[in-house]
Amino acid sequence: MTALIVAEVTESALAPSTAKALTAALQIGGGVHILVAGKNVGPAAEAAAKLSGVEKVLVADGAAYGHHLAEPLAALIVGLAGGYDAILAPSTSSSKNVLPRVAALLDVAQVSDIIKVVSADTFERPIYAGNAIQTVRSKDAKKVITVRTASFTATGEGGSAAIEAIGAGSDPSVSSFKSEALAKSERPELTAAKIIVSGGRGLASSENFKEYIEPVATRLGAAIGASRAAVDAGYAPNDLQVGQTGKVVAPDLYVAIGISGAIQHLAGMKDSKVIVAINKDEEAPIFQVADYGLVADLFPTLKELDAELAKA
Ligand code: FAD
Repeated sequence: MTALIVAEVTESALAPSTAKALTAALQIGGGVHILVAGKNVGPAAEAAAKLSGVEKVLVADGAAYGHHLAEPLAALIVGLAGGYDAILAPSTSSSKNVLPRVAALLDVAQVSDIIKVVSADTFERPIYAGNAIQTVRSKDAKKVITVRTASFTATGEGGSAAIEAIGAGSDPSVSSFKSEALAKSERPELTAAKIIVSGGRGLASSENFKEYIEPVATRLGAAIGASRAAVDAGYAPNDLQVGQTGKVVAPDLYVAIGISGAIQHLAGMKDSKVIVAINKDEEAPIFQVADYGLVADLFPTLKELDAELAKA
């Protein structure tokens, strides 16, 4: 049994989510190789080689992989697939673009978003917005799996795997890169943040979102999140959305402010270690998952919290 992990690379660096997918791969058992594909990915390959338990790092460095287009990447992975029993990737926007194509080209059923490895062919994954956990046994000889990173801790360093450059696969040339617009922020990335301060419809405007959520988040060194209602109303940009159709997060501390706690929101944050909720409605479902709840009007409360944090 040998597994290939498709590394998540951000610019030239290895994203922390790769080490979480590695934990899942090691639980499946057998050898683990990591594929690092992109442009100028030397530093990412070196970081991957240091991860504990990795036998080999394959590096495909070339312009064709620079923008993570699904078509050339999938062709590369399918070209390598003969040597592997399982192909895994952290469940990210990029892998959600690439791995289904790999699974289709290999004619196997992808197992998406696993939260637990039961055995080499059996996995748990959430369904119905996390309200039920499905146990899936895959009979495919080659498994294609995405790993929900909030459910696995990262494997640490301690390895010294061989790094092997591989030639580029043939580019099907059916897509080409035009442009990308990346949201730039000084704050921690939402899915990697240790603290998230999240605002909902209760904020009532984008001005309030800025005035009340941002200072508290800044003082806590936190990322900012939002409910879908807040995003749909234009209070916050959509890359901040947490939930079933947004990002899945599991920080050490999640502060939900003016968020009712709909199941689709809970699906994205209920694995947070400590949940704090501020809501003026004591019946709000968010209080059912909160470790600490404050029934209060968020506006004066956040001003007070900001003033107290300023003293700390
Ligand atoms: P509301 O439910 O309107 O709650 C606002 C809360 O603010 C209330 O509890 C209210 O008491 C409180 N409040 C108001 N004013 C104050 C105040 N002054 N002080 C304190 N509290 C106050 N939602 C997501 O978040 N993420 C998703 O990914 C997502 N995906 C979805 C996918 C599907 C297929 C569907 C159907 C829905 C999805 N939703 C998602 C929407 C979800 O069902 C809810 O509509 C949404 O989460 C509600 O957002 P909210 O809690 O901000 O708003």
